[in-house]
Amino acid sequence: MLGPPGAGKGTQAEVFAREFGLPKISTGDILREEMQSGSELGRAVKAVMNRGELVSDQLIIGIVRERLARPDAASGFVLDGFPRTVGQAEALDGLMEARDPLIVVEMQVADEEIVRRVKSRRVCSVCGASVSAFGSKPLAVKRCQHCGGALVTRADDTETVVRERLKVYWRETRPMIEYYRDRPTFRRLNGAQAPEAVRSELEAAIFAVAGRLQLVVPPRRPA
Ligand code: AMP
Repeated sequence: MLGPPGAGKGTQAEVFAREFGLPKISTGDILREEMQSGSELGRAVKAVMNRGELVSDQLIIGIVRERLARPDAASGFVLDGFPRTVGQAEALDGLMEARDPLIVVEMQVADEEIVRRVKSRRVCSVCGASVSAFGSKPLAVKRCQHCGGALVTRADDTETVVRERLKVYWRETRPMIEYYRDRPTFRRLNGAQAPEAVRSELEAAIFAVAGRLQLVVPPRRPA
């Protein structure tokens, strides 16, 4: 799942992964867990993340390589927040050798909508689920709808940092989309719609590609 910060990648990845029984692999979540655990890695990346910059390709590729090698990722996974540079995309192609092809979906959302969403975004301090206001309504919920945990603002979700993250997105990540654009497995969708509409478009896009390539999609799980 590709797209700028706050495009809804994490939310959509979460729902899709749950529905089809696949692991959701979010590099941002992995790094935040490291930060919370106070590990050496967490301490090393904290300042970089809080400035809205990217951690090094070498570090993040190593994390993803290790994660994809785990048994739960053997028959598929949903990637959220990776790859983010051409170097990461090239490395991912290497990791995908001998596996089914990647299905790449880009969620498009205009910059000003991103800033508005990210400023209103709150994340659960317990399970990490995120919620942001849709349209012009203020955020109505005070606790996580999944686990009841307290909602907090991410340190990198301030207006200044999100504008920096957008700059990084246009400079580093956007060129990577060109890397995928001509593949038959690439789809682009409108991420500015209501989450339910994005969800149906996303599923339709994935099923269209999977059908064309005769890939086996795991059965849908009961809600
Ligand atoms: P996210 O939760 O995906 O918005 O990621 C939060 C922050 O983690 C980013 O702003 C980066 O500092 C770092 N990060 C996450 N994924 C990557 C990646 N693939 N490459 C480099 N840095 C990343």
